[in-house]
Amino acid sequence: MIIVLKQGTPQQEIDKLTNIITGKGINVNPMFGSDLTILGLIGDTSQVDPAQIESFRCVERIMKVAEPFKKANRMFHPGESIIKVGNTEVGGKKLAIMAGPCSVESKEQITYVAQEVKKAGATILRGGAFKPRTSPYAFQGLKYDGLALLEEARAATGLPIVTEIMSPYDIEIFDEKVDCIQVGARNMQNFDLLRLLGQTRKPILLKRGLSSTIEEWLMSAEYIMAGGNPNVILCERGIRTYETYTRNTLDLSAVLAVKRLSHLPVIVDPSHATGKFWMVEPLARAAIAVGADGVMIEVHNDPANALCDGAQSIKPDLFAEVMKDIRTIAACVGREA
Ligand code: PEP
Ligand code: MN
Repeated sequence: MIIVLKQGTPQQEIDKLTNIITGKGINVNPMFGSDLTILGLIGDTSQVDPAQIESFRCVERIMKVAEPFKKANRMFHPGESIIKVGNTEVGGKKLAIMAGPCSVESKEQITYVAQEVKKAGATILRGGAFKPRTSPYAFQGLKYDGLALLEEARAATGLPIVTEIMSPYDIEIFDEKVDCIQVGARNMQNFDLLRLLGQTRKPILLKRGLSSTIEEWLMSAEYIMAGGNPNVILCERGIRTYETYTRNTLDLSAVLAVKRLSHLPVIVDPSHATGKFWMVEPLARAAIAVGADGVMIEVHNDPANALCDGAQSIKPDLFAEVMKDIRTIAACVGREA
């Protein structure tokens, strides 16, 4: 971090500011020019609150040199993180393919879809038991019964399960029952939830917030990692823009940005990104081509009668086609599916 001071700042003001910063264990190197004085801060500047520094009247401006996320930062962890999820991994050469219905609806539905996606090549079964719905009158999920059905589908197929947590009260039961805990877009900045998930060692699938910047997203990963849980998987699921044709706007450039900034694996969810089933296949191909570590795709046996997100859900036969495409693209970019 670099602090640029106002012209003519008296030495005692510089000393006051310097003392505050060195009190946080950071070295301050002042440089006196003919017009400007700048302070170069060396050390863990995550402890420095820019707003506090800016409140000093002698400060002209602050320039960040390093990103505020440390544990998620590639700079301090040059290799790629590979996260173990049940009997599979996310982040290695092999692509992670998370597939399944938006919501768990019945034993028959989840078991059937699980078997179909497994046959086609999925590595992880998804299915919502607790659903974050915009309307309180919409189907809210089967809740704890849904978790039990996911466990049955896992037993029947061997696929590890990922499902969304909504409340900190459920952390213990999720930690016990599921292989990967999903934090949905709406909870990406539920900092209490993130902090508590940091106390587990469970893999966390952290979806990008509805209107979050890449830095905010990585700072949410940092909340989990700062608590001691390094097992974070990022998921780009589209962001709000002025465009209304699609449900959200898929930000594929975020995959590249995150790969440059962080060592964490990142997957792409073309289903929630677009809200349209016919966009899922081409965008899944694009996601793999751009370097994503996998995809999350909503697959439903009967989309027309789905209790949630039918318009973006694909049937198992189309999912099998998507898998063929993914394998073709994977081979071109040095990956496997
Ligand atoms: C989901 O995956 O079911 C979901 C609700 O996604 P998001 O949080 O990305 O909207
Ligand atoms: Mn959904």
